[in-house]
Amino acid sequence: MNRLAARAGSEKGGGLDLTAGTEGGESRAVKPEEEFRYLFGPVPSRRLGLSLGVDLNPAKVCTENCVFCQVGRTTELTVERKEWVPTAAVLAEFDRWAAAGNATDYVTLSGSGEPTMHTGFGEVLRHVKAAGKFKTALLSNGSLLWLPEVRREAVAADVVKVTLSAWDETSFARIHRPAAAVTFERLLAGERALREAFPGQLWVEVMLLPGYNDAPEQVQAIAGRVKSLRADAVHLNTTTRPAQAGVAVPRVPEAWMRTVSAWFSPVAEIPVFSGKAVSPVEMSDAGLIELLARHPIALEALAASGGAEVAAVERRLAPLVAAGKLVVEVHDGVRMVRGGFA
Ligand code: SF4
Repeated sequence: MNRLAARAGSEKGGGLDLTAGTEGGESRAVKPEEEFRYLFGPVPSRRLGLSLGVDLNPAKVCTENCVFCQVGRTTELTVERKEWVPTAAVLAEFDRWAAAGNATDYVTLSGSGEPTMHTGFGEVLRHVKAAGKFKTALLSNGSLLWLPEVRREAVAADVVKVTLSAWDETSFARIHRPAAAVTFERLLAGERALREAFPGQLWVEVMLLPGYNDAPEQVQAIAGRVKSLRADAVHLNTTTRPAQAGVAVPRVPEAWMRTVSAWFSPVAEIPVFSGKAVSPVEMSDAGLIELLARHPIALEALAASGGAEVAAVERRLAPLVAAGKLVVEVHDGVRMVRGGFA
């Protein structure tokens, strides 16, 4: 992952005040989140409330190399399915997390790549369900759902969210830059087949990108494909975090998002943050860095998610920014915070 230059304080839209005091920024006592390698969060999710993430992929192994990816450029573009990280270690982490009495709305397979590449993802879903207290979600790009063995495992989730942001092979290749075996035809067939087999909640995420798929006829073409999935919900998104895949992708204006949302069936929802997370002011250094590496987020949204004052979050983050462990970048006047530079 590329190290980004720390930029703060002087750009349009403001930045973290590095001259602020260090109140709240001293090294913290070790907290549980520092001990986890495969779990992260819980993080406030726009759709799931509080979501404990489970990352089954090393960064950055994926079947696609999407231009909007916030994790970073895919370094291993492959459709190989294997036990990319030890399943037993993931399950042991989850058991330890659950035994500590922690709470979350969902346990969600997501993270640094496509979770269905991991041959144990179904086992993880079933293990979490067997604990009896947690709902499960699978966030998938849909690229491997054409494989029957992947669909058989995916139906273990309570919610499966798949992506459908293209309407043909050309648009799919341009936006998602997939591995050779991943085609739009397979993607669509796989997502349709999952719908046939899956009694749970199927959500479809449509990522709109200016110049890629946001023209009226393009959105209508996507909406037609989405309709064929008979989804329980459609989530319309645009880039809200800095893309890290080497392509600068601006966001689609909210007014256009609202206009085109009515073209989808069911009517597409526009993102709203609903979760309540631990206050970032209270989190440990390592926990913040890890969380913000996987989920770069607007400073104001980070503060709001944990019920903290923006000024208090600025003071909390300032030492980490000064140490180069967090980066603040301004995108369209919004201060985005990103971690992972420990
Ligand atoms: S956005 Fe998702 S599917 Fe696309 S490259 Fe990133 S991790 Fe892979």
